[in-house]
Formats: sequence, C-alpha cells, structure tokens
Amino acid sequence: MVEITEIPVEGYQCVKRAIDPVSGLHAFISVHSTVLGPALGGMRLWPYASEDEALTDVLRLSRGMTYKAACAGLNLGGGKSVIIGDPSMKSDAFFEAMGEFVESFGGNYITAEDVNTKVEDMGIVARRSSHVVGMAGKSGNPSPKTAWGTFLGLKATLEDVYGSDSVAGKTVAIEGAGSVGSIYADFIAKEGGKIIVADIFAESAERVAKATDGIVVGPDEIRSVECDIYAPCALGGSLNDETIPQLKCKAIVGAANNQLLEDRHGDMLRDLGIRYAPDYVVNAAGLINVFDEMMPGGYNEDRAMAAMEKIRTNMAAIFAISNEEGISTAEAADRFAERRVQAHLDQQANA
Ligand code: NAD
Repeated sequence: MVEITEIPVEGYQCVKRAIDPVSGLHAFISVHSTVLGPALGGMRLWPYASEDEALTDVLRLSRGMTYKAACAGLNLGGGKSVIIGDPSMKSDAFFEAMGEFVESFGGNYITAEDVNTKVEDMGIVARRSSHVVGMAGKSGNPSPKTAWGTFLGLKATLEDVYGSDSVAGKTVAIEGAGSVGSIYADFIAKEGGKIIVADIFAESAERVAKATDGIVVGPDEIRSVECDIYAPCALGGSLNDETIPQLKCKAIVGAANNQLLEDRHGDMLRDLGIRYAPDYVVNAAGLINVFDEMMPGGYNEDRAMAAMEKIRTNMAAIFAISNEEGISTAEAADRFAERRVQAHLDQQANA
C-alpha cells in the first residue's frame, strides 16, 4: 500500500508525498494550478541529495508548467512529479506505485515521460492510472516538434530584431547538438541560415556541422562567437554573470529549459540590447503536441502543428509588452501568462 500524505504549500493547489516501502518509491507530485485545466507535467527521476531538494524542484517545475501552458494558449494547468532515485531502481512495482500516486489526484494531474523516465515506463504507470499521455503509438517523440516550435520562435524574433523573418544569411550559434539542437539546425540550414555548433561530445557537433554545412567550435567558445542568434539547446543556466558579457549576438532563441540562471539576468540582457526569446514560450511545442492527445478524437498531427503557430504570435505579443511596459522579455512572458490565468478567473466570476 502506497503511503500518500498531503503537504500544504502556500500558492500551490495540492502537493503530496508518496512512500512505498515495497517498491522503494519516494516521490512528490505538485499541482500548482488547475485554473485553466488539469495540470500536465512530466515524471522526473533524479538522485536528489535530500527530500528538501526534491520538494523545491517539484514546486519550481510545476509552477513553470502553469506559465508554459498559459502562454501556449492551452487549457492546461501546471503540475510535475519527481521521484528520488536513479534508473537502477526502476521496476514494474515502482511505476505501478507511481500510477497509484498519479491516480490519487483524480485527473487533476496528468503525467508524461521526463528526465530519466521513458515511454515504456509510462505504459507501466498507465496500468494503475488513466491520466498518462505521451505513450507509445500516440503523439510520438516530442523533440522534432520542440525544434519546429523553437524555429517559429526564431522567425518571430528575427522579425522583431531585423524587421524580416528571413533566416537566409543569418548565423545561429547552437550550443548542444542533441535531439532538439540537431533538428533545429536542420530547419535553419534549409532556409539558408549559417550554423556554428558546439557540443561536449565533439562527434555530435561534427555530425550536425556536416549535415548543415556549418562549423564546429568548442563548448567554451560557442557563447562568444560573432553571430546573429545564440541558441542554448543544452542545459539550463547558460545565461549568467559570467557568460552574458561574452555574448556577441543580437538575440537568443534556444530550446533549453531555465536558460536564465536568475531572473535578473533577463534585465541584464535587456540593458545590453540583446533580445531574449523566453525559453518556456519558444520550447512549448512538445507540450502543445502531447496536449493534442487529449482533444476530441485523439491525436491529430495537423491540428497540433497548426496550434504551434501560436508561438509566433505569442512572441510578438511578448515583445510588445516588453517595449510598452519597459520590462525584460522574461518578465513580459510571465505577465502574459498571468494575465491569461487572471482573465479566465474574471470570466468565471462574471459567468
Ligand atoms: P539532449 O540530451 O538530446 O541534447 C542535449 C545536448 O547538449 C547533448 O548532445 C549534450 O552532449 C549537449 N551538452 C550538454 N552540456 C553541454 C555544454 N555545456 N555545451 C555544449 N553542449 C552540451 O536533450 P534535448 O532533448 O535535445 O533537449 C535540449 C534542451 O531542451 C534541454 O534543456 C531540455 O530540457 C530542453 N527541452 C527539450 C524538449 C524536447 O522535446 N526534447 C522540450 C522542451 C525543452
């Protein structure tokens, strides 16, 4: 029997801890908000050093999902689950216990794969819960969609910075030649953009450079190369006190999560005249894609692709808020999301 305990956290709708002595499961699920709809967010497995660290992470991530879904125009709230452990702990009993935990939210939390969990694991979770998306045979691998959405964000940013959304002749410095970065590079190169790429695995960078007729630089050089766009597509925190002064780009458009190490780094970029496309706005296409599984009739790729176009118009709206209200684009994105949630609450109150 999984022991499930609710932990009251101010500003969060429902946070719970689960412990299962049989399978060794020790996990948290946080539902930040369900104002716009059920809270969707992935199931992360990570060797957190402490319970506090895991709780802090699930709170931060679930709040982030509320903002991401609100900006993307989806009728979804924000939620997330984190499991303390590493992939060696995986077993059927472990994920079945997690299914029971997910089910305890009665549909207010919907899960999907995330760091260290896989599509197959979600199949096991689904034995005990009907609130699982992104399983085999449904909306598929999100990375190509995320890359496409980031490319749409690039177009909106080029329009803002150069007055034209043309990628031709523009140089994009891509940090991280992984699942998203490599496909993003393809889209850019196909429209005549020039690629500079770096990865901690030189072979990955070389593969992308070969496919796009681009050039490879070292991971320490990518942030200081002359380029139009710097595209963080590796890990978070790459925009910080040390790296921002090195940048020689006009704008930043990449897929990595949590690119700004701290909120104030958004202001720092604004002061330097570097246009930052907020990460959770441009990397939302994977979420838009998986959300389509929940639409009437089930997943429809054309409908999902059409919904991703919103990333362009959202970016234009966020740039406008940043200009009109004299704030960073990161703050403008937060306000854009908060206003959508508030408008929904006002509508409900007036109904
Ligand atoms: P991935 O693991 O396939 O690729 C990341 C790449 O970055 C790897 O090739 C890795 O070697 C490289 N890398 C790591 N540290 C580096 C460094 N310091 N310098 C240069 N390269 C480095 O991951 P992904 O799925 O392509 O995701 C990339 C980023 O986008 C992540 O931050 C992820 O959270 C975010 N994201 C991904 C998706 C998606 O659909 N996959 C959706 C939203 C956000």
